[in-house]
Amino acid sequence: MLPRLLRRYFAEDIAMDLGTANTLLYTRRQGIVINEPSVVALDTQKNTVLAVGAEARACLGRTPRRIRAVRPMKDGVIADFDVTQAMIAHFVRKVITGLRLIRPSMVICIPSGITQVEKRAVIDAAHLAGAHDVSLVEEPMGAALGADMPVREPLGNMVLDIGGGTSEVAVITLSAIAVSQSVRVAGDAMNLAVQRYLRDVFRLEVGEVTAENVKKVLGSAVPQPGAPRLEVSGKDLVGGAPRTVTITEGHVREALSDCVQTIVGAVMSTLERTPPELAADIYTNGLLMAGGGSLLKGLGQRIAHETKLKVFVDKAPLTTVLRGTARAMLDRDLYAPVFIN
Ligand code: ADP
Ligand code: MG
Repeated sequence: MLPRLLRRYFAEDIAMDLGTANTLLYTRRQGIVINEPSVVALDTQKNTVLAVGAEARACLGRTPRRIRAVRPMKDGVIADFDVTQAMIAHFVRKVITGLRLIRPSMVICIPSGITQVEKRAVIDAAHLAGAHDVSLVEEPMGAALGADMPVREPLGNMVLDIGGGTSEVAVITLSAIAVSQSVRVAGDAMNLAVQRYLRDVFRLEVGEVTAENVKKVLGSAVPQPGAPRLEVSGKDLVGGAPRTVTITEGHVREALSDCVQTIVGAVMSTLERTPPELAADIYTNGLLMAGGGSLLKGLGQRIAHETKLKVFVDKAPLTTVLRGTARAMLDRDLYAPVFIN
């Protein structure tokens, strides 16, 4: 066992946001070192990993028969243990280069809906990749820490993290989650809703990547005056011929309205279950939004309107959770109560 001080100066400790859509890694010396899609491309015949991250994502929807691009964390659960382990190992090895005399400590942020078995799988994967010890943090806690909320105080802090697979709402006080809810409606469900809408209304079939692009460019939760029109190409549902249609912001808003309503509902029901003293704090201090989904235009405004809360979207919502996880990693003693294992 190395003395703690030595470890502190020589180990390249790692904070990791293991997201359903994007995985980010941070080290004390290098800051944010990895920010890549949580995608793995597999050769199904040889059963080997071909690519991980951005390179693998480029293959989504474009693979030949023998290659499969998978998102092992899709839906906020570990759909495939082996692939998740391979992905974690790939990213960790990329970060720890050179002499590996001292194995790193890792703090990993995971979706809060994850089961005990899945937690174990994440911990095992990190150990296999060379971690000395592994601590886990839940996503809403990571978001709250990343946004510099006073999570250690006896005060209600409310966060909403909208990722790819899940939207997670939580009320945090005294370094722990008091009330929370996780729904499987977030960025991926929005992409699917856009695909379904284009199919039903325009009889146009588009892939996931196109749908996501439409959502990012035109998606909204409240009307956006002056929004441009967008040409979308795909194939005709009936004949299969290539076709282009022109859609408006109103179309995409309509496509996304059920998803938006589900997310608003999750915030409402969490508020309903929040004890009165904490709820009073939240009415004073507001709700913090993070995660890529919080970038949907007008979503903060819509949630503010429906819940009567003040709503703040973090300044860089795609890195909030990682910054919070890094904060916990850099001061493990102070934040000891936030670790869940
Ligand atoms: P996770 O934590 O689950 O990995 P992220 O917080 O990285 O997820 O968010 C990824 C999701 O955010 C994706 O579904 C992506 O489409 C969505 N997203 C990113 N930018 C925008 C945007 N400008 N508008 C709407 N959604 C966005
Ligand atoms: Mg996330």
